[in-house]
Amino acid sequence: MKNLKKIGFVVFMLGIVLFIGNIFMGEYKFDGDKIRSHFDSTPDVFDKGDSIASGFIDAVQQYEATNSAPTTNIVTFNAALPQIIDRHNHNVSDALAATEGLSSDDVQSVVSGANQESGIVYSEEVIRGALGDNENKVKMLVDNTSWMYTDQRDFADVAEFESTLQSKVDELNGSVGTQYHISKEKWSLLDINKAMVESGAKTSTWLWFFLTFGLIIIGSVIYNGTNYKILGEAGIKNDGIYHESATNRGWVAWIVLLFLVGFYVALYFFPQYIANAVLLVDPVSEGLSGNPASQWFLYGFIYCVAMSVMAIRMYIKYRHNRYQIFRTTVVLFFQIAFAFIIPELLVRFNMPYYDFKNAWPLDYDFFFTYNIESLIDNGTLGIFMLVWGIILTLIIVPIMVYFFGKRWYCSWVCGCGGLAETLGDPYRQLSNKKMWAWKLERYLIYSVLVFAVIMTGLVLYTFFTGSGSLFGIDTYYISVVYGFLIGSIFSGVIGTGFYPIFGNRTWCRFGCPLAAYMGIVQRFKSRFRITTNGGQCISCGNCSTYCEQGIDVRAYAQKGQNIVRSSCVGCGVCSAVCPRGVLKLENGPEENRFGNEGPIVLGNDGFELNK
Ligand code: SF4
Ligand code: SF4
Repeated sequence: MKNLKKIGFVVFMLGIVLFIGNIFMGEYKFDGDKIRSHFDSTPDVFDKGDSIASGFIDAVQQYEATNSAPTTNIVTFNAALPQIIDRHNHNVSDALAATEGLSSDDVQSVVSGANQESGIVYSEEVIRGALGDNENKVKMLVDNTSWMYTDQRDFADVAEFESTLQSKVDELNGSVGTQYHISKEKWSLLDINKAMVESGAKTSTWLWFFLTFGLIIIGSVIYNGTNYKILGEAGIKNDGIYHESATNRGWVAWIVLLFLVGFYVALYFFPQYIANAVLLVDPVSEGLSGNPASQWFLYGFIYCVAMSVMAIRMYIKYRHNRYQIFRTTVVLFFQIAFAFIIPELLVRFNMPYYDFKNAWPLDYDFFFTYNIESLIDNGTLGIFMLVWGIILTLIIVPIMVYFFGKRWYCSWVCGCGGLAETLGDPYRQLSNKKMWAWKLERYLIYSVLVFAVIMTGLVLYTFFTGSGSLFGIDTYYISVVYGFLIGSIFSGVIGTGFYPIFGNRTWCRFGCPLAAYMGIVQRFKSRFRITTNGGQCISCGNCSTYCEQGIDVRAYAQKGQNIVRSSCVGCGVCSAVCPRGVLKLENGPEENRFGNEGPIVLGNDGFELNK
């Protein structure tokens, strides 16, 4: 059986190596046919797509005429791509400004029309009088300079009027033709990479899907499955966990960290470099939503695969414990059905992409203008989703926390918690139990909550008033900063990437604003507690060791004191690993919830004498 486990490990590693290798394989080429088919979805009709495609081909030729370096691998191709897009966009603006922009003669006509005996008069009538025969030019000025109309403001003299108009016209001429521009956003770069690469992932997708995901899944199932026999009788088997390099911050842990962090950095900031990996899941994405995959679909797919194969490990490890079996099944169901499949199917039926269980402020962009507008634009269902999101946060979340503690979300429903409880389970002992970590936890998590509330307030202010700033603070800028620092770096790169070093709940413990919100309810108004039968405790410390939230459970157990902590996610592992049955997760009456406080109380600020 041990040999079979080794075979499983080799198969898994082969899949990982091929997955990484696949990313760098293939030939990249700015090929005319591929450019046309990527930008022109209607080859039988001469339209905007044809213009963009031929403009891009010209830009490629101009680039190649002045740069002799090859652009055939992932690095050189992506070094050239933004420059070619810039060249294309510049060419388009130059060409169209001559015919569709506003010339200096046009500006002079408008200025002389506005310069009347009574002073400067600027209105739609004046614009039409000056440019009447060219509806495009009239529309351009009417749409973009109505704020200059003299029924709303004055100009000191003709020079001020002319310079204000000229600077606006310069800006408009620069943006002429944006409809023919190619975006340099990450999604656009990824799409162009997917279109231009010639690789196994593209030509033999299912074969490479098997060689990567297939081998990873088969290897993991064999590796985890053999534990059923190797570990022997049902029961907690954590022997040797501190002697393994992978689970005690050794060199294996650092390699896993590098892999995870590298993946998250590519996913969030450079998705164009993982085009081959995204191509692997195109057929799955097309089967679900009808669209090719994005990097986020790849992420969702990997997330579900990782949780599923590691759930097998959980089922075997905790097979004697019904709470863990049931909890693992439920959290897996919510991830696969609610976070992955249902949103994709909604898109297939032209409905908004929506994860019904994702609650604000974890779902920090829920109140962003584009999201609210998109939901409202989608009619009754969209409005229902909007209302559901608000009810979920304001009513359902606190009520459920009152009855069951925040475990109902953190350990049973949430995707972040789901990954932590499956993929992250081998790392749970790495959580820091020191007092300074507890202090840092409280400073950080509530700061993030305050940041999320302020950021959302500012975004909503913009939504309702149309003003982009409040007290001089740019609301869009704040939302971008939050998205970068909290949404990407903290929750993704550090939260998951650092599992092998900081433990599996770094994000949930130190950063998640929803956990902070639920933690306040759990601490002050909830029926949940972990009761302790202190007389049975032998102070072995297993509970504290395996508490992923860094709670010193033993300190409570030794005193027979109930554990009522805002950070407890109710994973139940402290209870599972206790050899004496001391700990029990319970929901009960609020009275006497803290139980026996004893002579020494473990409080928020340290140990106190109970007077
Ligand atoms: S105290 Fe127990 S139930 Fe709570 S987070 Fe720690 S291990 Fe999980
Ligand atoms: S695992 Fe059980 S016996 Fe060991 S210290 Fe914790 S409560 Fe006490």
